[in-house]
Amino acid sequence: MRLLALCLLLLGLAGVARAGDPADLVLTGAVVHTQDPARPKAGAIALRGGEVVGVAAEVDPAWVGPDTRTIDFRGDAVIVPGLWDAHGHLASLGAIGEVDLATTKSWREVVERIHDRATTTSGGGWIVGRGWDQNDWPVDEFSGGFPTHADLTRAVPDRPVLLTRIDGHAAVLNAAAMRLAGIGPDTKAPEGGAIVHGPDGAPTGLLVDAALGLVPEPGQTDDELEASLLEGARRCARAGLVGVHDAGVSPRTVELLESLAERDLLPLRVYAMLSDGPSLPGSLVDGPKVDLHGGLVTVRAVKLFVDGALGSRGAWLLAPYSDQPSTRGLPQLGQRDLDAKVLACALAGFQPCVHAIGDAGVRRALDAFATVDRALGGKLRKLRPRIEHAQVIASADLARFMREGVLASMQPTHATSDMPWAEARLGPERVRGAYAWRALRDGGNVLPLGSDFPVESERPMWGFHAAVTRLAADGTSPHGEGGWFPDQRLTREEALQGFTTWACYGAHQEQQGGVLAPGRCADVTVLGGDLLTVDAAKLRDLPVRMTIVGGRITWDSDEPDRR
Ligand SMILES: [Zn+2]
Repeated sequence: MRLLALCLLLLGLAGVARAGDPADLVLTGAVVHTQDPARPKAGAIALRGGEVVGVAAEVDPAWVGPDTRTIDFRGDAVIVPGLWDAHGHLASLGAIGEVDLATTKSWREVVERIHDRATTTSGGGWIVGRGWDQNDWPVDEFSGGFPTHADLTRAVPDRPVLLTRIDGHAAVLNAAAMRLAGIGPDTKAPEGGAIVHGPDGAPTGLLVDAALGLVPEPGQTDDELEASLLEGARRCARAGLVGVHDAGVSPRTVELLESLAERDLLPLRVYAMLSDGPSLPGSLVDGPKVDLHGGLVTVRAVKLFVDGALGSRGAWLLAPYSDQPSTRGLPQLGQRDLDAKVLACALAGFQPCVHAIGDAGVRRALDAFATVDRALGGKLRKLRPRIEHAQVIASADLARFMREGVLASMQPTHATSDMPWAEARLGPERVRGAYAWRALRDGGNVLPLGSDFPVESERPMWGFHAAVTRLAADGTSPHGEGGWFPDQRLTREEALQGFTTWACYGAHQEQQGGVLAPGRCADVTVLGGDLLTVDAAKLRDLPVRMTIVGGRITWDSDEPDRR
């Protein structure tokens, strides 16, 4: 009895809201798409104590008390459940100190930017750049192939330089970096990796997939890493995101995220996938951490790699690459190793999220999940195992996703970025099973959608546009204005679900997010137009007017400088 009284007292002190209390924040003057089947459309919502407490056609006078803030959008906004990105990389997006190479139009420009950085910074430390894509360069530069280190080494002879490709699956090193990585003419690439050699037998400086592991990690201090996380998170909030599935984090990153959340600095929810590596077994022993700091941080997933990326021909295919018949790609893990890792995750209660892009990689991941699920009597599928990207799927494997309870976590902008060259890699037949959202959807699958930022933009409306049009930003595609394999498009309602309910489902959070109804999280995205009806050409540039996480405004376009 005394305990009960104490609990009641503590609840009272914590200020827990009672039914009938006025709201903290009321949003009105907008079209509200709730995704609640009981009330799909509304005109006003009320938020209190981190929850939605009212949804109605108009403001209910009972919502409004002396301390209630009411925001009237005057008919000029559309409110949707807070948008999620089901696969991104926060620290890389924020990347304090890295040279951004994503907009470079030639290798010459890359070298110039790195040379500038070397001359404007002191010390002998690493210079790190990211985001180059040889597909954006003139074809006569390296005959359409990959860059080599010679110009880079001439421009920066005395400091190590590491330049990672846009997909994170290949990098160019200058001579100083190769020395530090111990790479010479006779160095053997580790399994699942490649050290590219020139006609003279010397390494060209290009490393692919597992060979990147030879490079000593350019150190980032805790302060730098925290600043990168925060900058990435702020960019996401500005883009309208309320949450991100961070696809590969270290225990140190988890600590920093928790510390940011504890200090009320983290402007979005993070569903973290732990990276595979020496620290993983220890983290598994510690077990999942769910809904820390008011639901801002959850750690109950693990990221594993079964292959590389299509652009650098690391994606592992069942048959040779159509434009390079000598290779089928670079598998990163054998079947038994993958099975063992998936089993270890499942036994510890973690959701395995396996990066697989080629059809052979996807099959290996499906096989591992099937083996472990059988061994555990159906326990694995309850953890909702995921395949990250699932870009190329053999037709025989399509139905396995639904049947075996495996989620395909996909990124619509990968399709529109890759469409100029994907068919060359895959040939006319295989490409039909690539980025096959509609085929998966028709099989009954839910599709957690994301961007893989910074590989693509973090802006969810860009992904939404790609999902519903299969067109590039300028409205074109290799198949003309109708879009690239337009039969694989999603509807706008499906795309919205992909960035809300389905993304939440992919994180076991569909009871909290994805829907605006009483009792749900007060996570809201306010757009300056209706994503369900506006002209498709306007989708990418729909302004994000406001982002709200747990009732707290994390982005307001009227006050862009407020933190
Ligand atoms: Zn990724």
